[in-house]
Amino acid sequence: MTVSMDNNPAFNRIPPWVKAKLRPNAIETIQKVHDWVETECVPAEPVVKAQLAVAGKHWTTPPLIEELRKKAKAQGLFNLFLPNHFKESPGLTNLEYACCAEIMGRCYWAAQTMNCHAPETGNIELLAKYCTPEQKERWLKPLMDGTMSSAYSMTEPDVASSDATNIGLSMRIEGSEVIINGRKLYGNSQANPDLGIYILMGCSDPTNPDPWKRHTTVVVPSRAKGLTMVRNITIMGYDHAPEGHGEYVYDNVRVPIENIILGPGRAFEIAQGRLGPGRIHHCMRLVGQMERAYELALIRCIEPQKKPRGKLIGEFDSNIERIASMRMEIDSMRQLVLNAADTIDILGGKAGRYVIAQCKILVPNVATKVIDECMQMYGGQGLTQHTALPEMWTYARFVRVADGPDSAHRHQVGRDQMKTAGGFKERHLAYQKRHQELCKKWGVEYVKYGATDF
Ligand SMILES: Cc1cc2nc3c(=O)[nH]c(=O)nc-3n(C[C@H](O)[C@H](O)[C@H](O)COP(=O)(O)OP(=O)(O)OC[C@H]3O[C@@H](n4cnc5c(N)ncnc54)[C@H](O)[C@@H]3O)c2cc1C
Repeated sequence: MTVSMDNNPAFNRIPPWVKAKLRPNAIETIQKVHDWVETECVPAEPVVKAQLAVAGKHWTTPPLIEELRKKAKAQGLFNLFLPNHFKESPGLTNLEYACCAEIMGRCYWAAQTMNCHAPETGNIELLAKYCTPEQKERWLKPLMDGTMSSAYSMTEPDVASSDATNIGLSMRIEGSEVIINGRKLYGNSQANPDLGIYILMGCSDPTNPDPWKRHTTVVVPSRAKGLTMVRNITIMGYDHAPEGHGEYVYDNVRVPIENIILGPGRAFEIAQGRLGPGRIHHCMRLVGQMERAYELALIRCIEPQKKPRGKLIGEFDSNIERIASMRMEIDSMRQLVLNAADTIDILGGKAGRYVIAQCKILVPNVATKVIDECMQMYGGQGLTQHTALPEMWTYARFVRVADGPDSAHRHQVGRDQMKTAGGFKERHLAYQKRHQELCKKWGVEYVKYGATDF
């Protein structure tokens, strides 16, 4: 299939510098993802809602999504997020995937139909990166096949988990077993029967003088003896069924030491490795959410029945300006996300730390603002279940906290930036020195106001 990117809605918003980097295979995939989301996902949203509302079916994957997952897999639209340097990858770069992910973002669950949803994406990447061949066979294969789902469990209710050195859940290694005790908050809900494993971070060596070597990552079967989900937790009123979020108690849960990933004390290496492209997948999809919210606002602008003071909503200057600001904000956020994806492709996740943080800080903040403005333009209905806007807003809001709060990223960026101050001081002292020389040469009086003024 030859796909032309000209006047093609699947590509209209992709900037030229990105189009120039897309390979023929990726262009085809982006087109397929676009057609998939437009025809199979967005129009099916009310059906999925109805299927989740059937008594006794709230925590099972809706049949429509089950069917779509099988179809997407058959069409080669599965696991697109896994970057092309992994041998298990379907072959896209992070930049190419970012174009797909924005389209997926138009519908909250579309990514799930393509096995590209959180926390699966981060977990699959983690397992692909750090597991032995035997471990891959047990956990990575079923996750990539889509026959099992997984949770990532780090956060605890009793400590500040954004600083993972605080994680206190006890993992005692005794003979051939790891014995686990403690409490966890978040991680997908046990109520969903598809949930097969928790990838769990805990403290195995609390007295190790190196705080970065105290923690271990272990795979725990979701129905392990002694593991109890105390309750489902809701996010601003949404339970996000059927995946959901849970609150857990581990009471002498025992798993074999073969379930340790990479080795005892190596959880931080794993956590660092998990923080690559997976960190900006939410941001990629939020660009798609913003576009959809923006379209709803535009439609409202020309709705003939909605005429306060006899004018269309879109005829008020304040709304014309709102539309312009939103357009530019969404396009700027897309550029950030695409730049971050490209940087990760070229330099890797570690070197891309700043651009990843830039996305994590700015995109969800702008998305909450844009979606909020769209709600305002839509009026009362925009805050009800008549539109997807409240769910979109909640999604954008939670991304400010999930995967690490934006404040922590800002703190890190600020600290890194402070380290650059010395370099600038040297540069300005060099200006000053040259200024003195020039004053001497041209007979101009040298005036110095402060230590580095020139
Ligand atoms: C929808 C959703 C899904 C989630 N899914 C998962 C999951 O699957 N698995 C999982 O383990 N966790 C999950 N989380 C939890 C999330 O990762 C944590 O809530 C987050 O890392 C913050 O940890 P904390 O709640 O302990 O906040 P704390 O560490 O107590 O921080 C509280 C606040 O302090 C401020 N703060 C913290 N550090 C700094 C800093 N360095 N500089 C300035 N201010 C700072 C921030 O404002 C922060 O929000 C999810 C959260 C949400 C909302």
